[in-house]
Amino acid sequence: MDAPATKPAKSATGPTEETVLDVKHYTDRLFSFKLTRPASFRFRSGEFVMIGLYKDNGKPLLRAYSIASPSWDEELEFYSIKVPDGPLTSRLQKIVPGDKVLLGRKPTGTLVHDALVPGKRLYCFSTGTGFAPFASVVRDPETYEKFDQVIVTHTCRDVAELEYSKKIVDETLNHEFLGEVAQGKLVHYASVTREEYPTKGRITDLISSGKLFTDLDVPPLNAETDRVMICGSMEMINDTKQLCIEAGLEEGSNATPSHFVIEKAFAG
Ligand SMILES: Cc1cc2nc3c(=O)[nH]c(=O)nc-3n(C[C@H](O)[C@H](O)[C@H](O)COP(=O)(O)OP(=O)(O)OC[C@H]3O[C@@H](n4cnc5c(N)ncnc54)[C@H](O)[C@@H]3O)c2cc1C
Repeated sequence: MDAPATKPAKSATGPTEETVLDVKHYTDRLFSFKLTRPASFRFRSGEFVMIGLYKDNGKPLLRAYSIASPSWDEELEFYSIKVPDGPLTSRLQKIVPGDKVLLGRKPTGTLVHDALVPGKRLYCFSTGTGFAPFASVVRDPETYEKFDQVIVTHTCRDVAELEYSKKIVDETLNHEFLGEVAQGKLVHYASVTREEYPTKGRITDLISSGKLFTDLDVPPLNAETDRVMICGSMEMINDTKQLCIEAGLEEGSNATPSHFVIEKAFAG
């Protein structure tokens, strides 16, 4: 019998194996890494996908991860926590260039332009690794076509945990092409909860006290002009969502776009 002309595909639905191109460690709890992007892998800026590693028994161990790179980028970037006993991240934090990481085939999510109706000002409220989807959104030129102002807030416990978001915003503003569209529109507003820092406190307190709006010289949240994306812990999402509802904003989805959208930065 003749040999088949091509090898059968491993699995048309299972994860693909991608190569680690770069790894950067920020603190003992945070790192980012870049993977090769298959030509067939399409996503909208702000979406998440399953990524992972093979377990010792050969089965894949996958977790949801926001894609931190924008949809136009040839490489895929991720921003990750290191959970000391975490089944995935206790091993993922040790990857080096050349290693293989599993990538799911079906990106999805609600932190996308499609889930918001048009507005003037976009707020991206994040805590911890919840900044990851916004690293994608703020590097997408479409964001600046759609909004006059893009305010990305990042709240962490320690000052060192702000390094990644500062770097992404700084690089965007100084980028050869993105800089032209983002300058004068993109604003980074950082706050810290457990160390001394010019802006201290939780984002919910900074919204409800009005300090956020005074600091940025903008009017308070308003359903006519403002659109909001929220990504953080369940508690942060619920509290921020409540403030949006009190301001008259309604929650949107891919099926029914509206004023604000939410996504958990992690389960639990
Ligand atoms: C929609 C979605 C998107 C996500 N995107 C990201 C992302 O971009 N980057 C990322 O690092 N994680 C992200 N996560 C969390 C991720 O799926 C894993 O939970 C994380 O990688 C830890 O995996 P683990 O197997 O080591 O530990 P797990 O068993 O998954 O988690 C152990 C415990 O660690 C804590 N934990 C997990 N993830 C985080 C986190 N990100 N920040 C703070 N505490 C955490 C939780 O208390 C959890 O119970 C996302 C989760 C969801 C649901």
